[in-house]
Amino acid sequence: MTTISPLIAGNWKMNGLFHSLDELTELAQLLTTGEAPRAVVVVCPPATLVAAVANQGASSGILAGGQDCHAQGSGAHTGDISATMLADAGAQFVIVGHSERRADHGETDAQVCAKAEAAIGAGLKPIICVGETEAQRDSGSAESVVNEQLAASIPNAAEHHDVIIAYEPIWAIGTGRTPTNEEIAQMHANIRARLVERFGERGESFRILYGGSLKPHNAREILAIDHVNGGLVGGASLLAKDFYTIISAV
Ligand code: PEP
Repeated sequence: MTTISPLIAGNWKMNGLFHSLDELTELAQLLTTGEAPRAVVVVCPPATLVAAVANQGASSGILAGGQDCHAQGSGAHTGDISATMLADAGAQFVIVGHSERRADHGETDAQVCAKAEAAIGAGLKPIICVGETEAQRDSGSAESVVNEQLAASIPNAAEHHDVIIAYEPIWAIGTGRTPTNEEIAQMHANIRARLVERFGERGESFRILYGGSLKPHNAREILAIDHVNGGLVGGASLLAKDFYTIISAV
């Protein structure tokens, strides 16, 4: 069986200001004074804080990531940021296709795929998000929706060490609700099967993260499920203690 080193990524969303990086300082302290983390630890702050997270996190092993990138390397795209710029600021990862980007900015699978390609080209590891709505789960189409997203959002050139998949049921994000452990196991096994179908043996080695109300109280059981190779954490990544508890649950 392939061993995959787990990864826990925090998505700060549009939270945090430069003068309020105290939680990062506290997380760094917890990580350096406590037991060595068994997971790769990534913090994805707003773009204005990427350089600060990369610099401040370096000594405690915290890696920085962006929350989105443009598919182009540069150009007339007011308000956007390129993967190259994130890498230049010290990022090593970037989230692409988060459901909030898909919903708020109408991002399609093809655009998500182009962003993931740009990320790889800039030397970043894209964390490609997929997940169904509550109505899609209720109607029994969760797997087919996720499979379509996987097929169209993951670049053909994806390599297991470059690309991370995050399964995030949309109805679980920020709601305090999660699928059952059986539902998570079933979806992650399905994603693994699709990766193996497409990429052959390499498909066994991609990290598949779970995201959606991953909290200190449920992290241990969710992170122990087969084919759950870590987590993408929103709300609970904003408090150092909570995020550290989740990291320690690996
Ligand atoms: C997310 O937005 O990626 C997320 C998982 O959020 P939360 O943990 O708050 O549900």
